[in-house]
Amino acid sequence: MTTPPPSQTRVPLTSLDDAMVNLLAQAGPLSSTEMVATFDADGRVLAQDLVSALQVPPNDNSSMDGYALRAADVTEAGKVLPVTQRIAAGHSGEPLEPGTCARIFTGAPMPEGADAVVMQEDTVEVGGNIHGVRILAVPQPGQWVRRAGEDVTRGAVVLARGERLSPASLGLAASLGLAHLKVMARPRVALFSTGDELVMPGEVPPEAMKPGAIYNSNRFFLRALLHRMGCEVSDLGIVPDQREATLAALKTAADHHDLILTSGGVSVGEEDHIKPAVQQLGRLDLWQIAMKPGKPFAYGTVKRDAGADPAAGEACHFIGLPGNPVSSFVTFLLLVRPFLLRLQGVDAVAMNAVTLPAHFTLSKADKRREFLRVRRNAAGGLDLFPNQSSGVLTSTVWGDGLVDNPAGKTIAHGDLVSFISFADLLA
Ligand code: AMP
Ligand code: MG
Repeated sequence: MTTPPPSQTRVPLTSLDDAMVNLLAQAGPLSSTEMVATFDADGRVLAQDLVSALQVPPNDNSSMDGYALRAADVTEAGKVLPVTQRIAAGHSGEPLEPGTCARIFTGAPMPEGADAVVMQEDTVEVGGNIHGVRILAVPQPGQWVRRAGEDVTRGAVVLARGERLSPASLGLAASLGLAHLKVMARPRVALFSTGDELVMPGEVPPEAMKPGAIYNSNRFFLRALLHRMGCEVSDLGIVPDQREATLAALKTAADHHDLILTSGGVSVGEEDHIKPAVQQLGRLDLWQIAMKPGKPFAYGTVKRDAGADPAAGEACHFIGLPGNPVSSFVTFLLLVRPFLLRLQGVDAVAMNAVTLPAHFTLSKADKRREFLRVRRNAAGGLDLFPNQSSGVLTSTVWGDGLVDNPAGKTIAHGDLVSFISFADLLA
């Protein structure tokens, strides 16, 4: 048997789970934090527990427009009580005399002594020399009253360090009186694309493209994905397929970034300059991940110039994604996303899969674990995009998620499969 030339040497396949464990083992949280206005903190990750200094709501208050009273004063429907005070939201009333009631509005504090609210729809005003109200339904103690502290108790950890802030959590933080929040620094990511065939949209019109030239699509979705992940992105553009240019781009990027992310050039062909360049400037593990799409994937580190960024440490993380657009997109979602979350101190990075019926068949099983682009249909099942090639970006736009299909498994119509939605992965 003849020995294959080095460029064709078979690298053993790594399972996606092993790749994930190895990758996440490198992703210690970044050390810097910053204070940001609560207004601007959507999507950021909390760097400290938020402990409530007060209870929410601060007092018992009415959840209806109506009348506050003592439930024990109304034992039968039709009872008339004098209305002795009026309490609007933002104002406090006087203690309530037994046998009387207070006009009250939603959010207004309950007067001392009152234990229930009758909504105004269950009352009729009565005239005469005293202003009174007829209560049409017998009230239960506690009805239409929001209890002090029923949302948040004093001293409670309302949001924990490492949680990613959502619009709702900003509201919750604000309800505790917090105008600023301590959050993890944004990962600083240098992004570049490799490939002499790449042309930027806008530079050359479609009719003037040279044979073999293609537009750089990866740059667009990778940049957008990085922004969604809360990163500060330095887009370094296209690096030509040359050793020196690749070395120079990596060196400059390493000094002031936490991660260098590239697409293309991580196969083992002669035009793939990323691998030797990263090896020269640091170290590189090239994995052939047993997944489809997305086989080649590289993790490494690139040394920084001495003193370049003392706070960030001696080396910058490096991740090399495959060049095929769908492979690049899918490996970003499955591997880079959890990596970036870990850099920001998020613990829970696992994908959320749900089980749904396949409304398609897959008669040819792949040897690798496959991530099929699918779309949920109105019947509650999944349809398959007909062309699953790793170059067909249309599949990722048509689809709204991925079926995570184990290696060697065919799928019959109606089989239950594991579905991961893009919406979850992009949130
Ligand atoms: P590579 O990993 O560099 O061998 O590239 C694999 C395939 O992906 C080739 O067909 C490339 O032309 C294509 N490709 C690489 N980078 C990009 C990019 N940024 N945008 C679109 N296609 C790309
Ligand atoms: Mg290439």
